Amino acid sequence: MARIDTPNRIRGTQDIFGEDERRFARVADVFDRVRRLYCFQRLEIPVFEATAVFARSLGETTDVVSKEMYTFEDRGGDSITLRPEFTAGIARAYVTNGWQQHAPLKLAASGPVFRYERPQKGRFRQFHQLDAEIIGAAEPAADVELLTLADQLLHELGIAEGVTLQLNTLGDAETREAWRGALVAHFEAHRGDLSEDSLARLDKNPLRILDSKDSRDRPIADAAPDIDAHLTSEAGAFFEAVARGLDAAGVAWTRNSRLVRGLDYYRHTAFEFVTDRLGAQGTVLAGGRYDGLIETLGGPPTPGVGWAAGIERLAMLIEEPAEGEPLFAVIPETSAQERRALRAIRRMRDRRLRVTTAYRGNAKRQAELARKLGADALVYVKEDGINVSVVRETPFDHSDLDLMVLEALPVNSLSGDVDDQ
Ligand code: ATP
Ligand code: MG
Repeated sequence: MARIDTPNRIRGTQDIFGEDERRFARVADVFDRVRRLYCFQRLEIPVFEATAVFARSLGETTDVVSKEMYTFEDRGGDSITLRPEFTAGIARAYVTNGWQQHAPLKLAASGPVFRYERPQKGRFRQFHQLDAEIIGAAEPAADVELLTLADQLLHELGIAEGVTLQLNTLGDAETREAWRGALVAHFEAHRGDLSEDSLARLDKNPLRILDSKDSRDRPIADAAPDIDAHLTSEAGAFFEAVARGLDAAGVAWTRNSRLVRGLDYYRHTAFEFVTDRLGAQGTVLAGGRYDGLIETLGGPPTPGVGWAAGIERLAMLIEEPAEGEPLFAVIPETSAQERRALRAIRRMRDRRLRVTTAYRGNAKRQAELARKLGADALVYVKEDGINVSVVRETPFDHSDLDLMVLEALPVNSLSGDVDDQ
């Protein structure tokens, strides 16, 4: 017989199952709960967009646009890109739908994003993000609420302990111009020691050198002048208001005056929540203010601030989620009890109980299987009633169960017949 080759999974993609899936789902669930507390509305946007949405928003010279996007021509000849992040698509949706009337708009989204990167621990080509945005609010109070949401999410996931909020300001346009001048002067003086990538950045976007991971650039970047000497009084006051707001809301933070973000659209606030528990992939959640972005997409001047978090990285940090609800296994004592067991199972699930059942094997075999699946109690359906064998004590009252199941069982059912109702 000819051998049939199984197509491989694409490099950097994942089949998420078992414990990994439970962790993943827990992150998504907690995010959904917390975003409701903060009145962020859930938004679904397309997985792909016209390439211009990302190229214009993120900036042509950024790593994401120049190296990491999945871009292709569709059958109609249009250039399409799989989303490498949410913010640009959400901004596009805001303009397309004329959502100015709803501003300030607090939005939450999540789902797959795609970047052509070198796969490694915590770094995939298809990964998943949580995303939160506030569009149409220029006030520092919006930055504060957005960051407080992030902080509460990390607390509720139980991982706030080892994660630090690093905060910086990138100032306003005037500040950035002045800072940029000082950075260029500094980097020019060390031109000979910079990496090739950073030499190219020196002309196009010198701020980006601060973000370099190349060991040749690090000492030069670390010695670069920081932004503080160049802050205009407005930019300084904005940063001060965010900082004081975070203190009032009980959000711990530290200043990282070297922090710049990889995308062009950031202004004023920039931040990352960082841990040392994930090796090189230590940033779990990051974002900032992007007041110019919506204009770049042809919309009206509209301020915005947002963040994104990698679900996989958060999922790696949390404790393995425990299943809160007790699990019951219903086991017919003999095959003659199978239909009565089905009836009991239906009754239990109607009452919102979690029930597992095997499709085959005798009672002993089914009990073994149920224990392996983590059942808290085995409910044997017998000719003369039920017998509950508790594997593990749970907050559940088993006398309720007796009633519930007995109710479901016909009284005269020596043959296991259930056709009596
Ligand atoms: P990094 O510096 O790790 O490449 P980034 O600055 O490119 O991160 P953002 O664009 O800010 O990341 O995306 C927000 C979050 O998405 C990151 O903080 C991280 O948790 C997650 N993330 C980014 N790229 C990947 C990836 N390739 N695989 C898994 N998660 C990722
Ligand atoms: Mg990256």
